[in-house]
Amino acid sequence: MKFFIKTFGCQMNVNDSEKINHILAERGMVRTEEAEDADIVIINSCAVREKAQEKIFSFIGRLDQKQKIVVSGCVAQSEKDLIIKRNKKVDFVVGTHQFYGMNGIIDNFLLKNIKGTDTTLSKEWSESIPDVYARENRFTGFISIMEGCDNFCTYCIVPFTRGREKYRPYKNILDEAEYLAGNGFREIVLLGQNVNSWKDKKEGVSFAALLDRIAGIEKIHWIRFITSYPGYYESELIDVMKQNRNIARHIHFPVQSGSTRILKKMGRNYTREQYMKIISKFKSEIPEIKFSSDFIVGFPGETDRDFDLTLSLIEKARYNSIFSFIYSPRKHTKAAMIDDNISLEIKKERLQLLHELQKKIQLEDHWKLVGKQLEVMVTGKNPKREGELLGRTESYKIVTFPGNRKPGEFINVTIDSFGPHSLRGIEVI
Ligand code: SF4
Repeated sequence: MKFFIKTFGCQMNVNDSEKINHILAERGMVRTEEAEDADIVIINSCAVREKAQEKIFSFIGRLDQKQKIVVSGCVAQSEKDLIIKRNKKVDFVVGTHQFYGMNGIIDNFLLKNIKGTDTTLSKEWSESIPDVYARENRFTGFISIMEGCDNFCTYCIVPFTRGREKYRPYKNILDEAEYLAGNGFREIVLLGQNVNSWKDKKEGVSFAALLDRIAGIEKIHWIRFITSYPGYYESELIDVMKQNRNIARHIHFPVQSGSTRILKKMGRNYTREQYMKIISKFKSEIPEIKFSSDFIVGFPGETDRDFDLTLSLIEKARYNSIFSFIYSPRKHTKAAMIDDNISLEIKKERLQLLHELQKKIQLEDHWKLVGKQLEVMVTGKNPKREGELLGRTESYKIVTFPGNRKPGEFINVTIDSFGPHSLRGIEVI
């Protein structure tokens, strides 16, 4: 039998798809690149925005009647009834905590032509996939260290799709990191909705201590972690980063808004001032550190003054990159009950202004890099230019350069030109 997986959304979903891939490959199934060649199509869905959710429904609409269709992921978790109602073609809906049972789903439902759903959220961490699973690449290894969120930011659907926070045991994380280091992976990315709230109470280990321990594993060149919540900052993290040069000097630190008034409405438990204080502290202790962030524009009640505060925060923080979205109400959330009183026109205008400001900052910062040598990890071929490669810097900038290197190799590149979103250069031989 053949299967096809379509993944929408964040790195957590990509990692879950790798695990589903592993389960199905273990039972002798073959992965296909095209949905039409598959007997079973799995759609690993994302619910973070209305638009993302609609993409899933339109993808299902384009599928063939003869295939078995399984919807997994966040939309499966939060909208199982809607999926079944809107798509008679769907055979099984499996939530974010139950995809580990894919073998049982195939045997008990798909092969017997029975439709079904399983969206039970479990309280404990499930350790049913070995470290040695079918990963998308052989140089960057993603390790899930926690799942879920207890914050309930008023706009966010994650606590409803991924459940409450649960932490993977310390020993299991270390085993996976050691396995990756011993098998040629050069970069490790620790994954979770709130990585910095991770802890192993039984072992008495904090997130910073976990990072410190992983940084001590030989052969790991860069360690990254996503996503950090600004409300859980500890100075121990700065100390650990200072002591370990292989913890990449880049943190994704989503602020969402520059206005304390809006942050309060969003249910974020920090103020603009507290956030900026943390950024300044990191920058004073680790001058080379770079940050990226997420922003929501047009949150209900956001005034011109609030939005100006967002722009001024962007100017002050000088992010490496940002991800920005127009607010879209999500079912189940508190914010969805507030009147969405900002017109789409104003939201779009604000988004545009934010993009223009960030583009200006990136161009200024990229200009300063011309003539500098940067360490780059090769990630693959540049699909847009024959004979060119793509790589990432420690601060997660995209770099293109001519060459003939293998993915996962670390090289030095002298930057000679740039655009707003990437750098170009020549390998230093
Ligand atoms: S911290 Fe807030 S935005 Fe992030 S996952 Fe949790 S509820 Fe969602």
